[in-house]
Amino acid sequence: MAVREFAERGADLELVGIQKRFPGFTAIEELDLVIPAGSFFALLGPSGCGKTTTLRLVAGLEEPTRGRILIGGKDVTDTKSHERPVNTVFQSYALFPHMTIIENVAFGLKRRRMSDPMGKAHEALKLVELDHLAQRRPQQLSGGQQQRVALARAIVNRPALLLLDEPLGALDLKLRRQMQLELKTIQEEVGLTFLHVTHDQEEAMTMADTVAVMNKGAIEQMGAPEELYDLPRTAFVANFLGQSNLFTGEVVGTTADAITVEAAGTRIVVPAARSQKHQGEVTVGVRPEKVVLHTEAPTETAGRNLLGPGRVIDVSFSGVSTQYLVDLGALGTLLVFAQNVGFAPVAGLGTEVWLSWDLTHGFGLADELAET
Ligand code: ATP
Repeated sequence: MAVREFAERGADLELVGIQKRFPGFTAIEELDLVIPAGSFFALLGPSGCGKTTTLRLVAGLEEPTRGRILIGGKDVTDTKSHERPVNTVFQSYALFPHMTIIENVAFGLKRRRMSDPMGKAHEALKLVELDHLAQRRPQQLSGGQQQRVALARAIVNRPALLLLDEPLGALDLKLRRQMQLELKTIQEEVGLTFLHVTHDQEEAMTMADTVAVMNKGAIEQMGAPEELYDLPRTAFVANFLGQSNLFTGEVVGTTADAITVEAAGTRIVVPAARSQKHQGEVTVGVRPEKVVLHTEAPTETAGRNLLGPGRVIDVSFSGVSTQYLVDLGALGTLLVFAQNVGFAPVAGLGTEVWLSWDLTHGFGLADELAET
């Protein structure tokens, strides 16, 4: 029942023409963003790109130099921080050590003299599956459990929007992965709008339904995780979300369906619909797991790009897959991730190999490699 009440409170967030200048530094030049109600939205980018500044602007802890912020259609740009329907979960949980877990969660409700603080706190603790530990103190809980208490505390007063600033950053890798799944489940249950900030691409892709990749104070690309990974528009996005093989060359042929790019004397075909540019200098790419390694020159190459011969210059086994680095001479090197079916590598160091991939797996970028 509480779940439904929470769900009704989720609100959309709109940032319109936001600029943020600090003395001597522009953190955000121009930011427009619409986050639909009830979504799990991740702002992903490297350190210093402006993620935390964006969150602080939404929370009302910073004022924009220009632009408007709307929550649930209401302009809150001039509304004080504590009057915005927003809560934030930080990396440090900052629970009160002298209070029990239930007291920690109920604290804000009591201070605001809200009705039934203990009942609501128990309800929130049930959501994060910690109600059975309600009478313990924070130091008697693990790091992951403490972070779940911090989450319960942040959702107990039913904010319209929950901001998460690297909330899992202090946890070890295994716990972090587990909490990612739990956070996603909780968000689905409560139906609140979550705006999550992280520099961890795997975390953003695992949890969010929409990811915005931020670079130098601007959004480079936004979409579903699968979309961004499959069809990156820029070299920055291609490299930030996993690894890519990128080659810059000149378009030497175009049809309605495809472009042909010549890079270092080698021709690479990319579907026209998967390329941002169709003439001049273009950077094209393919993900390492889409590339097939051949120890003999394949005879059937219809519908595939074929590169080689090249030479394996590095082999690294990583359990599920083996990574090969192949030297292709003037074209540079190419990375291949091959699933391990047996345990022996398909091609040892120094082996002569050919590389191929289905044409439909390539992509063409809007910018050039050198610009990243
Ligand atoms: P991180 O992942 O390291 O937290 P971030 O993407 O969250 O990075 P922000 O904290 O938003 O980055 O900072 C963006 C840029 O704005 C940085 O270059 C930072 O140095 C600068 N900046 C942030 N706050 C201020 C301030 N009060 N005065 C001047 N510059 C600031």
